[in-house]
Amino acid sequence: MKRIASLLLALPLAVMVLVAQTASTPEAQRMLEDVRTLASPEYGGRAPGTDGIDRAAAYIEAAFTKAGLQPVNGSMRQSFTTTTSVSLGKNNNVTFSVLVERPGVPLEMTKPTKTAWKLGVDYQPYGFSDSKTVTGDVVFAGYGLSSSHATYDDYKDVDVKGKVVIILRGLPKWAEKDEALKAVSSLRTKMTTARDKGAAAVCFVNQKGDSSDVLARFGIDRIGKNSGIVALQVRRTPCARIFPPKGTSMFVAEESIEKTKKPNSFALVNTSATVSTELTFVESTTSNILAMVPGTDATLKGEYIVVGAHYDHLGMGDENSLHGGHEQALHAGADDNASGTAGLMELARRIAASPLRRSVLFAAFTAEEKGLVGSKYFVDNPPVPLTSIAAMVNMDMIGRLRDDKLNVLGTGTSSMWEGLLKTIVEGTTIKISQSAQGTGSSDHQSFFLKDIPVLFFFTGLHSDYHKPSDTWEKVNYDGQATVVTTVERAVRGIGEANERPPFIKPAGSDQQSASGGFKVTFGIIPDYGDDPQGLRISGAKPGSPAAAAGLADGDIITKFGSTTVKNIYDLTAAMGQAKPGDVVEVTYLRKGKPTTAKVTLVGR
Ligand SMILES: [Zn+2]
Repeated sequence: MKRIASLLLALPLAVMVLVAQTASTPEAQRMLEDVRTLASPEYGGRAPGTDGIDRAAAYIEAAFTKAGLQPVNGSMRQSFTTTTSVSLGKNNNVTFSVLVERPGVPLEMTKPTKTAWKLGVDYQPYGFSDSKTVTGDVVFAGYGLSSSHATYDDYKDVDVKGKVVIILRGLPKWAEKDEALKAVSSLRTKMTTARDKGAAAVCFVNQKGDSSDVLARFGIDRIGKNSGIVALQVRRTPCARIFPPKGTSMFVAEESIEKTKKPNSFALVNTSATVSTELTFVESTTSNILAMVPGTDATLKGEYIVVGAHYDHLGMGDENSLHGGHEQALHAGADDNASGTAGLMELARRIAASPLRRSVLFAAFTAEEKGLVGSKYFVDNPPVPLTSIAAMVNMDMIGRLRDDKLNVLGTGTSSMWEGLLKTIVEGTTIKISQSAQGTGSSDHQSFFLKDIPVLFFFTGLHSDYHKPSDTWEKVNYDGQATVVTTVERAVRGIGEANERPPFIKPAGSDQQSASGGFKVTFGIIPDYGDDPQGLRISGAKPGSPAAAAGLADGDIITKFGSTTVKNIYDLTAAMGQAKPGDVVEVTYLRKGKPTTAKVTLVGR
């Protein structure tokens, strides 16, 4: 499962009670063996671009072959290249040059004092920083807040053009209830603001009260890696050190903003900085493993049920790790998602032994943890026509069944699901906890966004989630077998039905897909693939302002009003400031040609 903060909040973490897990049936024992193998050190945590995941791919392919499944279009591998990681290059430095005034000596004759920040100790570039060298005077810009709807503006009295700007993270306490300021307070929005005001580089420093003051985990931000500005995180002490002793200190300025509710931004006297960042992105080839069991009905075999589970995980710990330490450690991913992968192989054996009227396409997806990359590739390059996919059934984290409580998401995506869910638990002690939405942090979302009915089975989050402690012996194999049998009933129900499940959009799904808190709706469907020019979209929602303005699949948005758009974060930053009724000029590239459209934003 891909890490999404809101999901973590929505589902309470259960306290794990460590009990020896049993596998008392042959099915459960088979899954135990599959989970233990995939979660073993030999598979290295199955990170895309590593030998470990290639071993896992071969293992799954062998299981599909042994079960008698057929390749799809001649091969079980759907391979593609994607950015899998980012690393620091050789050229990463931050040096400061301070001119100290001496009586009787002209400033231009004094020799500058040089200081530096130490990489990895004092500071670290963000994985979305631009790679280049910039030199400029240093400016402290408070919390970096600027909004057309707020009177408080950290940029009111300072010019940051070409400057290296220091910004506190978060918000002053008094501003926590100020909707206008809150809307412009996220890290990425502050970065967009600084960049659009002409800053050359931005250094974020943790605010007071963050006693841990640790550097954030370095890693790739796939949906917005080209931020268009040099961006660093610096710890408080080394940051405070560069404020000249005679001027206002960082701590005093921070205090003053808190007390007076007024900005306190200023240029650091006679201080300039040279910042060099160099990030290297690693591209790797990785594969979805696809195999199918053809349907038995002459007509219905042309329709497919995609049964999916991602088989990748976080390797030795990537940017999605919740491991406390920064050192490398095997992230075995037994529950996430060796459990679903084992379930997928088990279901493949069962369906192959007794096929359905409709065809079933089994898909072990890669790079889910990197942002649903494998499933997105699948729907954008479908091995069978998308219109022939009757439903998608997803298993992600099915190894921790507790009190027979099974989460099923996507229950609002077809009118057939309510009845189906009743029948699959008949005669069992399974209690289903439903959620209507088809969006959410796993691969079914890619299918839902293509108007395909989805069902997502999931046994819940736990305290080992995305940590090295998600190990094979904590999986409840008898519980997992029960879940797989429940999923099997669902797949058989869909596969044997006379009618295919009609797709419906659950109420409130638009709200779910855009980040909350906006006053307005625009209605684009972002394409999260990276584009150096701007934000590529895969369409506009019918009836939305974006559709009315003629925006369509393949357009690349480069500007929204006065905000330069390089990625989804920039658009989010601009939307956070918009009001219903605003007419905004949107600039986009259509087949490489710059085009503009006036968009009238409407209220939610
Ligand atoms: Zn995960």
